[in-house]
Order: sequence, then C-alpha cells, then structure tokens
Amino acid sequence: MSALPEERLCEKITTIRLSGIVDQSIVDGPGMRMTVFTQGCPHRCPGCHNPETHSPRAGRTMTTAEILARFDANPLLSGMTLSGGEPITQAKALAPLAKEVKQRNKSLWCYTGYTFERLLFIAQADERAAELLRHVDVLVDGRYEAKRRSLDLPYRGSANQRILNLPASLASGRPVLWEKSSRFASTRLFKM
Ligand code: SF4
Repeated sequence: MSALPEERLCEKITTIRLSGIVDQSIVDGPGMRMTVFTQGCPHRCPGCHNPETHSPRAGRTMTTAEILARFDANPLLSGMTLSGGEPITQAKALAPLAKEVKQRNKSLWCYTGYTFERLLFIAQADERAAELLRHVDVLVDGRYEAKRRSLDLPYRGSANQRILNLPASLASGRPVLWEKSSRFASTRLFKM
C-alpha cells in the first residue's frame, strides 16, 4: 500500500495535529457542534480563508483522549465536525476519534478538499482513509473555488461543494446529497 505523493498520510496515531478547536460552532453543520480544525492541507485553493492551516508542521498536537474530554464536557453538542486543513491527510489518527464520536451516538461531519469520487479512489488504496470515512455521516466535498463563492450556501463556501450523505454514497458508489436522503431526515437542511 503506497500513498500518493500529495496524499501521504500522517504516520502518528496517538496524536492529531490541529490548527485549533471551536468548542461550540453553529456554522459547520446542524445544531451546536465541536469543530476540529486539522493542520496541513495539500490543496492550496486560491482564496483559501485558512492559509495558516496549510503547513503540516505548524499548529499543535492533541491526543484523542484530550479532544474527547472536551467533547464530553458539553452535553449540548449534537456532534463533531472535522475541518481543516485537510482531515484526510491525518486519517489514521482521526479514525479512532471518529469511532468514539459515533459510539456516543453523535453525528460526525467532515469537510474535505477532495471530491467524493477522488476519495473513493484514495480509500481503495489506503485502508486508513477508508476506516475514517466509514464513521462519517456527512461529507462536504471539493476544493474551495473563489469564482463560485456564495454567502447564501449553508455550510459551504462555494457552489461546487456538495453536502453528501456519506453512508448512502458509499453504499451506492455515487454521490447522494444529504438534503435528499431519508436516513438523516431528522437533521436535514431543507424540506423536500
Ligand atoms: S481545502 Fe480548505 S483549507 Fe485546504 S486550501 Fe482549500 S479551502 Fe483552504
């Protein structure tokens, strides 16, 4: 199993390199959520609002246990959102955290600069990425495209990005929009 050059994954599994954590966010998914901003991003989208997250050596490290302790301290949280940076580059470290969130019956969202179709290819080649994706409920995919920027889009920065029901998408092998799915009806954005 060999990682692709720009998609080489972090080898550390006990710690996660972070840009920061927002303990209570209402803009990264439905309800009140903890948003974990991972450090390191290979995409370099022009107009990126978080350029400080690009270097894989900047930021700081936290253990899964430390992050979970903060998460558990707030019973009002409906879930956790992984953002970045590019979370997929630390899939091996994030998978155990993602599993713990789901064991608490909380929802897990993940932002990525990769498209769903690209992630299918990556997951075929790297079990660590596949393991992380198995725990994600909703994936917001695609790079930020400044030309398609809109302030009217809930939970995303540009119109090319999609909000996907990831379990349904993985099961069918094609992108299934979250707002059109029935499995997550209780947390849907839009009425059908
Ligand atoms: S994927 Fe996100 S963090 Fe990475 S460069 Fe693009 S907008 Fe910035």
